[in-house]
Amino acid sequence: MLEVKDLAVHFGVINAIKSVSFNVSEGEIVTLIGANGAGKTTTLRALSGLKRPSSGSISLEGKDITNLSAQDRVRRGMSHVPEGRRIFPDMTVLENLELGAFLRKDAVAADYDEVYQRFPILAERRKQLAGTLSGGEQQMLAMGRALMAKPRLLLLDEPSMGLAPLLVQEIFDIIVNINKAGTTVLLVEQNANIALQIANRAYVLETGSVVLSGPAAELAATDEVKKAYLGG
Ligand code: ATP
Repeated sequence: MLEVKDLAVHFGVINAIKSVSFNVSEGEIVTLIGANGAGKTTTLRALSGLKRPSSGSISLEGKDITNLSAQDRVRRGMSHVPEGRRIFPDMTVLENLELGAFLRKDAVAADYDEVYQRFPILAERRKQLAGTLSGGEQQMLAMGRALMAKPRLLLLDEPSMGLAPLLVQEIFDIIVNINKAGTTVLLVEQNANIALQIANRAYVLETGSVVLSGPAAELAATDEVKKAYLGG
């Protein structure tokens, strides 16, 4: 479904991503793990068109999207839940969801109901200003907003960030359910432990390069990953 080949990204002279290649097949949960600064967020931003790569190619469902605008990538079925959620704090929960459906001409009440079923707390708070939500609720809203675009591929950047362990578990259960309902997931996480529990496959990024990849369960069992990313 997604094929990334020899992706490179620079910030001025800094080469943040160095020839990264990976792929995501339809129906999978694939995770990119790595330490702070490894290049996970930059990779996702390049995929969704928020940061222009210096070289390499990105294709989605067999079509080259490397030079498409961010909104055209959303139109083609890819939605991004950004690091730090980036909800609109001065707008209501409902207005944030409406923005997620901005590019669609066919959003209907049933689509909002689907999001509210997945995140019942958002239904209760639909008229509340998004900036007054808790961190976990804001994460749910950011995910709900992305789902309003009806993506086939969902890009998630550190959904666990700043959340208590019980809430992290709840959010990850929801990610698994979204995947089971038919949405392919690319998950960026610093919390390798939980990411490897739900992913089919994983790529480990270090200073802008993929250093390890494979089935998530196999990677989680290697000494290298245990020592560097699983605190053991
Ligand atoms: P984190 O979990 O902290 O977000 P990350 O793995 O997502 O880490 P990136 O944020 O992608 O890492 O950063 C990769 C590298 O690119 C880092 O060295 C970072 O300092 C650099 N970088 C990121 N954004 C910029 C920017 N706007 N200008 C200059 N350098 C940047």
